[in-house]
Amino acid sequence: MAKIIDGKALAAAVQAEVAVEAAALEAKIGLRPTLAVVLVGEDPASQIYVRRKLRASAQAGIASREHRLASDISEQTLLDLIDALNRDEGVHGILVQLPLPGHIDATLVLDRIDPRKDVDGFHPVNVGRLSIGKGALVPCTPLGCMKLLDTVIGDYRGLKAVVIGKSNIVGKPVAVLLLERECTVTVTHIHTRNLPEIVRTADILVVAAGSPGLVRGDWVKPGAIVIDVGINRIQDGEGQARIVGDVVTAEMDHAQAVTPVPGGVGPMTVACLLSNTMAAARALCNAR
Ligand code: NAD
Repeated sequence: MAKIIDGKALAAAVQAEVAVEAAALEAKIGLRPTLAVVLVGEDPASQIYVRRKLRASAQAGIASREHRLASDISEQTLLDLIDALNRDEGVHGILVQLPLPGHIDATLVLDRIDPRKDVDGFHPVNVGRLSIGKGALVPCTPLGCMKLLDTVIGDYRGLKAVVIGKSNIVGKPVAVLLLERECTVTVTHIHTRNLPEIVRTADILVVAAGSPGLVRGDWVKPGAIVIDVGINRIQDGEGQARIVGDVVTAEMDHAQAVTPVPGGVGPMTVACLLSNTMAAARALCNAR
């Protein structure tokens, strides 16, 4: 049987670590790490994600400021809010929940965030720093994937890693992080030819396609480690809504280890947001 990597337990441990660090910072210099969360509109999934992030922040001793804006606000109003949060010395992390309404240019908004407060790690400065291996705020989901892998891998050097998906928020940054650990990395996507054949070469497989049941047992070589990033809402046989990943977990007995969905990468994404906020607060107060 493959080991199930428990993302919930690891996320709780990361959150507890952040809580200790946040309390120590407050005791030492009276500073409470603070995260500003900006939510535009009423997207139901975004509301759930924001609620989770705020709850986890409170549990870790990170203060939060919630900015809820109507879906029809102008782009300029949002940019003005970002500018104000950038200037505010009491705010250490800024998170703009995506997706934004269609009339707002998300790239323009994300690029406006001070890179030092960019706890999602999406600003081009952080993307550039990550690509040259220099102390960036790293996107939360890829960082979570690496922390999950660290529980089962000591030495990454020379391992063959295959990433399915090349998005800016998951596939590309996770590929860079694996490369930094000296893996031999192949990034694949919807137009990749012979995908199963490539996946069968992987010692480490990270799947972030958003395609339920994409990776079957016969795609995965014995002993591989499988990280399933996918979150897909499907109806099961009885018409019940269910969350599943991109990997058919029931066919992964021959793998060394696999992350479940739910309870794998998802909780780690939230935990890494907290550790990024802590890191940003520490760096900002060291710089002052
Ligand atoms: P995206 O749509 O931006 O990118 C998907 C990528 O997968 C693309 O590069 C596409 O070419 C590739 N792809 C899609 N179908 C494929 C197929 N059949 N074969 C090969 N490649 C295929 O998605 P994203 O934002 O990177 O998210 C991917 C998945 O991860 C989604 O299910 C999303 O919900 C989930 N996700 C989870 C978390 C988390 O915290 N667990 C965070 C972010 C995204």
